[in-house]
Amino acid sequence: MTITPRIVVVGGGLAGLSAAVECADRGAEVTLLESRSRLGGATWSRHHRRLGFEIDNGQHVFMRCCEAYRGFLNRIGVADRVFMQQRLSVPVWRPGESAFEIRRHALPAPAHLLPSLLSFRGLSLSERFHAAQVAARLSRLDPEDARLDDASLGDWLGARGSSANEIERLWDLLIRPTLNLPVREASLALAVKVMRTGFLDRADGADIGWSRVPLTELHGEAAAKALAMRGGRVHLRAEVDRIESSRSDGVVVHSRGQALMADAVILATPPDVACKLVPESASTERAALAKLETSPIVSLHIVLDRKVMDVPLGVALGSELEWIFDRSERLGNPSDQYLTVALSAAERWLGRSVRELEAISVAELHRVLPRARAARVVGFAATVERHATFRASPGTRALRPGAGTRIGRLYLAGAFTQTGWPATMEGAVRSGLAAARSAVAVETQPPNRRSRIS
Ligand SMILES: Cc1cc2nc3c(=O)[nH]c(=O)nc-3n(C[C@H](O)[C@H](O)[C@H](O)COP(=O)(O)OP(=O)(O)OC[C@H]3O[C@@H](n4cnc5c(N)ncnc54)[C@H](O)[C@@H]3O)c2cc1C
Repeated sequence: MTITPRIVVVGGGLAGLSAAVECADRGAEVTLLESRSRLGGATWSRHHRRLGFEIDNGQHVFMRCCEAYRGFLNRIGVADRVFMQQRLSVPVWRPGESAFEIRRHALPAPAHLLPSLLSFRGLSLSERFHAAQVAARLSRLDPEDARLDDASLGDWLGARGSSANEIERLWDLLIRPTLNLPVREASLALAVKVMRTGFLDRADGADIGWSRVPLTELHGEAAAKALAMRGGRVHLRAEVDRIESSRSDGVVVHSRGQALMADAVILATPPDVACKLVPESASTERAALAKLETSPIVSLHIVLDRKVMDVPLGVALGSELEWIFDRSERLGNPSDQYLTVALSAAERWLGRSVRELEAISVAELHRVLPRARAARVVGFAATVERHATFRASPGTRALRPGAGTRIGRLYLAGAFTQTGWPATMEGAVRSGLAAARSAVAVETQPPNRRSRIS
């Protein structure tokens, strides 16, 4: 006798999608309810009328260490639609100087990055040696040690004699884009997680990858097909407004005036929505979730009438622009160049007009990439995500709930849950898998509920 549990997943971001596919693969009957008219959640794309092509809501990158996310791409059949560096290689530009490169050398971890660190321009020789010693100390810290979440990486580095220059030039370069917070505000625990998993524990962990196709095609559309092939159902524009336990040991999900009975529910919405939807009796989770704050990302999309950079990505030191990507594969005209710039922890960019953003970014581009001075800007757009990620500040760990809740058959998923990872695509996928495994494991056991028997 096989019991087929009915599982409702609320929210079609990466957490909900990975949960839904996992539940279906484990034999559950899955229904996914998404409030918007598309899947993919915080990873999405749209046709930009003025630019004339599909732009993403923001440049999304992953690293080779993001194994759950890469496994998810494989599972939904799109692993061939991403680009992945064979070997970490990032040119670093300093206005007025020749570029240098951060790259992975053929040495065992953590020595693979040592030659790059020791030739890191912008730091004095003694700062480079000091940074190498600090990295070695950091690699011995355990990100699971809850005490690390009481401090910021900035305080920890300061207490170990790191100069302001080291913090700004080196540590901010790595931590700001990965935690979406400056070093001085970032949780030490999450910084240790990123540094160890990405940069120190294995040599290939930080090789960088990104999608070659629009994000909605990569995640939302492909996952919808993968789910349909597994017999799952997806309802778009199906906002859930209430979830309650039912008398018959299940959970009832209310959406658009309809009630859906489920053996288990995986709630994979952003934390503010989860906070409202989790029933009153799960008050501990609600109270913690209400305290989770967010951090914004602003993304710039710049189209130039000629090529101004010859590498797929690079990072600008001492500039407002930070990480710059060449995404010209989106363009019809092969002589133009389409650059995207991700501005992390972007509070200072909020409230500026598109015109202001264009003026600042073009002036900066001229400083960083001198060839841009001869180029004409033929298109510009900015995308703003005010609540892009949860705020990875000290004390966050205590606020992040696990997959289980006090309502036995209600599970939480989302990059904000307790995955040990910062708010990333990897964290979202991991959370979905964890919630799905718990939900299916419990649901295939108890007998006293409505079930389909095959
Ligand atoms: C601009 C930007 C850049 C980023 N860059 C990177 C990067 O480079 N690398 C990286 O790893 N991560 C990056 N991230 C973070 C990453 O995108 C997120 O951590 C991840 O996608 C979150 O997935 P999620 O499923 O947890 O949540 P979400 O994607 O927020 O999904 C939640 C879903 O729930 C739906 N929903 C909400 N309310 C309801 C309701 N009442 N009923 C039904 N459905 C509902 C929402 O519409 C949404 O689809 C970036 C994020 C942004 C915004």
